[in-house]
Amino acid sequence: MQKIGIYGGTFNPVHLGHVSLAKRFLKALELDTVFLVPTATPPHKVRSDLAGGDERYEMCKLAVKGEKGLDVSDVELIRGGKSYTVDTLLEFHRRYPDSALYLITGADMFLTLEQWYRFGDITHLAVLCAAPRDEDSAEDLYRYADRLRAVYGARTAVVNFPLLPISSTLVRDRLRAGEPVDGLVPQAVKQYVYERGLYQ
Ligand code: ATP
Ligand code: MG
Repeated sequence: MQKIGIYGGTFNPVHLGHVSLAKRFLKALELDTVFLVPTATPPHKVRSDLAGGDERYEMCKLAVKGEKGLDVSDVELIRGGKSYTVDTLLEFHRRYPDSALYLITGADMFLTLEQWYRFGDITHLAVLCAAPRDEDSAEDLYRYADRLRAVYGARTAVVNFPLLPISSTLVRDRLRAGEPVDGLVPQAVKQYVYERGLYQ
């Protein structure tokens, strides 16, 4: 059976923390493919100082280029409107009916899962995967995963990978301040950001 990782985010921009997390889960859970899935931007949330959907998609493409097992999906961008993870999982389930789906999240997202639209359905569609983003969160993640298993019968996979303390917010702040972002984003993404004058 194929095992597919689904890793959603705004990826504004995609950074090495994202790429590293995707690769770690690919290996640790022996997934066949991990898809980065950039969320759509609802019209009322479009901001001129942030990159648009097409640009975020392009940057994700550049970030996974040459990374075996990593790919990008435009399902949410094509669907438009507010992106609901349950719809994305249903779409992947339709496309890959015989595959097991793994929903990949960082700590901040994982700890909010119960509030997600149709969370009950999400638990049936995918294994809920999480990794810490800072020193404190590993214990919280294990505890929360226990709860999701006990209360909802969810399937979970919490893995305590080495931290890569990078965020898109940090990258955008540095770009706006004219500071270098080497070591924070893939080289090709840096190039793209400069060429387009993004996040200035
Ligand atoms: P922003 O600062 O704009 O919120 P971000 O770095 O948090 O950006 P998102 O696109 O919001 O990136 O996150 C997508 C997913 O990746 C989320 O599940 C988030 O928890 C996870 N994530 C982001 N950065 C890291 C990191 N350095 N380590 C582990 N998980 C991460
Ligand atoms: Mg975030």
